Amino acid sequence: MAFNLVLFGGTGDLAWRKLMPALFQAFRHGTLPEGGRIIGVARDEMSDVQYRELIRSRFDQVELAKRPSTEEFDRFASLLHYQRMDLSKPDAYATLKARLDERAAETTVMYLAVSPHLFTAVAEQLGAAGLNTPSTRLVLEKPLGHDLASNRAINQTVLKFFSEKQVFRIDHYLGKPSVQNLMALRFANALFEPVWRREHIANIQITIAEDLGVEKRGGYYDGIGALRDMVQNHALQLLCAIAMEPPINAHADAIRDEKLKVLRSLKRWTPATLASHVVRGQYAEGNIGGNKVPGYLQETGVNTASQTETFVALRAEIANWRWAGVPFYIRTGKRMAGREAHIVVNFHATPHAIFQTPNGGANKLVIHLQPKDGLELHLMAQAQANRRDTNSLSLTQLDLDFDKRFGTERVGAYERLLLDVIDGRLNLFVRSDEQEEAWRWVEPVLTHWQQDTNLPRQYTAGSWGPSAASGMIAKDGFCWEEES
Ligand code: NAP
Repeated sequence: MAFNLVLFGGTGDLAWRKLMPALFQAFRHGTLPEGGRIIGVARDEMSDVQYRELIRSRFDQVELAKRPSTEEFDRFASLLHYQRMDLSKPDAYATLKARLDERAAETTVMYLAVSPHLFTAVAEQLGAAGLNTPSTRLVLEKPLGHDLASNRAINQTVLKFFSEKQVFRIDHYLGKPSVQNLMALRFANALFEPVWRREHIANIQITIAEDLGVEKRGGYYDGIGALRDMVQNHALQLLCAIAMEPPINAHADAIRDEKLKVLRSLKRWTPATLASHVVRGQYAEGNIGGNKVPGYLQETGVNTASQTETFVALRAEIANWRWAGVPFYIRTGKRMAGREAHIVVNFHATPHAIFQTPNGGANKLVIHLQPKDGLELHLMAQAQANRRDTNSLSLTQLDLDFDKRFGTERVGAYERLLLDVIDGRLNLFVRSDEQEEAWRWVEPVLTHWQQDTNLPRQYTAGSWGPSAASGMIAKDGFCWEEES
């Protein structure tokens, strides 16, 4: 299938660090449809050959399972082209159209790997230039706005020129194999459904921890913070995957309808819950891997009086029959004790104990998202270490490591998502109403912080966040996964 993939922002960080390696992997795996053109777009003057050399030099800096040989890279590079274009100049779109018209293609993907302030102008200009034909697909990278109003404004403009079915809003967490496996676990196995509810589940924890700080992006991050950067999109999408009802089929809208219902069922904030169910933090100087690292306020580009949160922990509840009363704890931050993302489903303890068990005999299911990718079911078992004590049980795990089971050369998140865009599969992309509902839920927290006279709580770089986050969950009688 011949396709055009126009990569607006073709020289940017996202393009060379994530998108080009993902396209290369698809090419290597033989899944990238034949006869495609990948056209990088930016403002620098460059020929196709120079663009290929630029991407080749950047490949030396990216992680790949196996380095390409010169010959292999050359074959991939023959798909790469370059178009100089200033996206703010309407005339430039006619030039792009002429370039695309040179060769017929069944699908044209317009990937906006540029700053979101350009999204509406680009959508309008693509429409004005007649580049919004039914075979065109528009890919929008996060962040889509910084609040509900700006998100709506982008969506409304985009939807004037493209139908919802043509718009692919990326949340790369949805492309992770473990998130797809979570759906498989829930909706392709009858085993878990009967216990996947309030009667059996005590609490659910979602952690997305990074050990990196803001690196060179302090100026950008300072206007954003952890709630906008991680919770509004990735964490809430994970919560939807965990909490949604079984969709009627595996089609995109059936799945998105169920996710939307979860977002609509999230209990709204009150002054009391804003005060007690949200903790914001900011990292202070500390140690990561034996190296001293600066605090957030000392990072380049960050305002020295900044109140931007680099950590957030919150307690959510879903007001429906399945989940009423079950706390969902979300926690994410930078400069934490490790790079780790996981979901923990904590089941209730046994109703009556005939053995001595750790943790009252409560089982848990841990879904590892990164760096490990797999499932662990924690069960009680007779370890028989002490042959005279047959009454005491130990905790052990059924451990399903997807990398070991299915191989590490599996399809990466961006590879999966790019192939889905080219093929027109919307399942792993976010619909505008989902995105708006997620903004509607987080916005009161942002407003509360603007008026809050309490500063973000400091936490030492290399820790699991401020102690208040443990205090918040302890009020319910629980603790975070690494403390259990
Ligand atoms: P970046 O490194 O600053 O790259 C921006 C790209 O856009 C460059 O190629 C730049 O080229 C081009 N560009 C900017 N203004 C342009 C204009 N008027 N006309 C044509 N091209 C223009 O940014 P990035 O990190 O790649 O991020 C791009 C988008 O993806 C942002 O919205 C970001 O939030 C999002 N995102 C990034 C990552 C990541 O890992 N980097 C992850 C998730 C989401 P010239 O300046 O040379 O024209």
